[in-house]
Amino acid sequence: MPKNKECLPVYPIWIAEVMLQQTQLKVVLPYWEKWMEAFPDLVDLSSALNQEVLLFWQGLGYYSRAHRLHKASKDLVQILWNKNCCDNDLWPMDIDTWMSLPGIGRTTAASILSSAFDIPEAILDGNVKRILSRLVGKQEPLSNNSKQLWELSIGLLDHNQPRNFNQALMDLGATICTKNSPKCDICPWKSFCLAYDQGNTGIIPLSKPSKVLKKLVIGLGIVFNDSGEVLIDQRLNNTSMAGMWEFPGGKKEEDEVIKNTISRELLEELGVEVKVGKKLIEFDHFYTHKKLHFVVHFCSIISGMPKALASIQIKWVKPDELINYPFPAANKRIIDALENYLLLSKDKLIL
Ligand code: SF4
Repeated sequence: MPKNKECLPVYPIWIAEVMLQQTQLKVVLPYWEKWMEAFPDLVDLSSALNQEVLLFWQGLGYYSRAHRLHKASKDLVQILWNKNCCDNDLWPMDIDTWMSLPGIGRTTAASILSSAFDIPEAILDGNVKRILSRLVGKQEPLSNNSKQLWELSIGLLDHNQPRNFNQALMDLGATICTKNSPKCDICPWKSFCLAYDQGNTGIIPLSKPSKVLKKLVIGLGIVFNDSGEVLIDQRLNNTSMAGMWEFPGGKKEEDEVIKNTISRELLEELGVEVKVGKKLIEFDHFYTHKKLHFVVHFCSIISGMPKALASIQIKWVKPDELINYPFPAANKRIIDALENYLLLSKDKLIL
């Protein structure tokens, strides 16, 4: 346990805080460990290729965090360079500098400063919002009462030991004041908690009306060349999952037959006419706001040379080298299915 005001290494704390923005600790931990081996310090990260960074973020989701983290590492190198040194104690110690970096909001900046330097900055992540809403008995959905909750978090912060206080608050939210079944009997704050006093812990915070999950069908094509290489393309920079690789294809239109979706998409994306052959795999993949149903078929080119008409670039890649490219999580199932298919067909492609 660090002593009060003791400084801890900033870099690993910053990486962990960004990974934890949308993801639980148990999921983050193995990714953080591999990340720290691959990019042990700020200079390693700032000088890495974007593709390497994406490869180590692959599977963690919300890929814009990886792009912003990488950009922030370059900005931080510049800030430390201007101070002519990369010592830990020359990292920024003010919240405004941290909040000016890509991907760093107020809570992330405050968490970094309180964890690394024991600086008194209040936090307000989802868990803390829930605890504070219950403490004051606020019967509103979480996002509607942030100003009051920020004031409360600032007012409660222990300025003598902000690191321990913020950590304790997060632990309370993760283990005792949980979303579905708060353990009020063992909560140290139960005598001050209005929701507990009024028997409202089950309804506070009020839930937001649930969104209808958008459902989309995606048709993808697996195209091989004569050398046994498979065609992949890299997503454009202005799209979600920018810079990641994928198999060519796209959204099925209403009343469209899936094979027609695939041939149309490959013509639009690559400028090639294809014959759509047998199916490799079909599966559902869920994101927080949408459900995708993937249908993947082998295809063979009838005419044209593939070009990157709707991607940063295209590549022909040996199937066993696909692992070297960062793919969105859903594509992992396609790669596994392809590997199995190639094993079973003993390297003979039957399209
Ligand atoms: S008493 Fe219950 S609802 Fe109130 S803060 Fe503690 S765990 Fe949460």
